[in-house]
Formats: sequence, structure tokens, C-alpha cells
Amino acid sequence: MLPPFPEALAAVNTAAAPALRLLEWDREGPRPEYRLVTKSDVDTVKAGLADASIEFFGGPQAAQIRVCPAPRCVRYFVKSHPRQEWCSVACGNRARAARHYAQHRDE
Ligand SMILES: [Zn+2]
Repeated sequence: MLPPFPEALAAVNTAAAPALRLLEWDREGPRPEYRLVTKSDVDTVKAGLADASIEFFGGPQAAQIRVCPAPRCVRYFVKSHPRQEWCSVACGNRARAARHYAQHRDE
């Protein structure tokens, strides 16, 4: 069960808090990159996930998040083009088959 939004937000901010972002450039890459520095590998993973989720949900893609309406699907997806209705081709096929079955069930 998911926690209420304020608790989830506090958990993300707590996970991101111990991370220190260092800007590094090793001169091999095309541009400087940020590296997360924490006390342990577990903290690094948690901080990386929290950092990425803050950037994602605070960015422009957040407005395109949708719940997949296909039967038996529990996924969310980022709507990447105007006519996209489902998270995957398989969900689109399942939803169309269910709609067809519902329309012809009593015939
Ligand atoms: Zn789906």
C-alpha cells in the first residue's frame, strides 16, 4: 500500500538529503558530469533514485504521466505522442479485444 503523498515526499527528500553532488570532468567525456557522494553504496542507490525522481516529477514530463486504462494493467506511463492511450502495444490490443467482446457479448 502506498503512503499518503506528504509521507512519500518526506521519504524521497530524506533519501536524497545525504547525497552530495560533485561536478567532475575527466577530460575524456564530452562534458562535466555530476557524481553522487554518500557514506555507503546503499545510500548512493537510494539518493540516486530520490534525485532522479525529484528531477522527473519536477520536470516537464510529469505533466504527461498517465494511468494505463487497459484491463488488468497497473502501470503508469509517460504519454509520448498525442494519440497514445496505453502503456504498451499489448495493453492496447487487450483493451481493444475487451471492448469488442463487451460490444458483442449479447449478440
Ligand atoms: Zn498497460
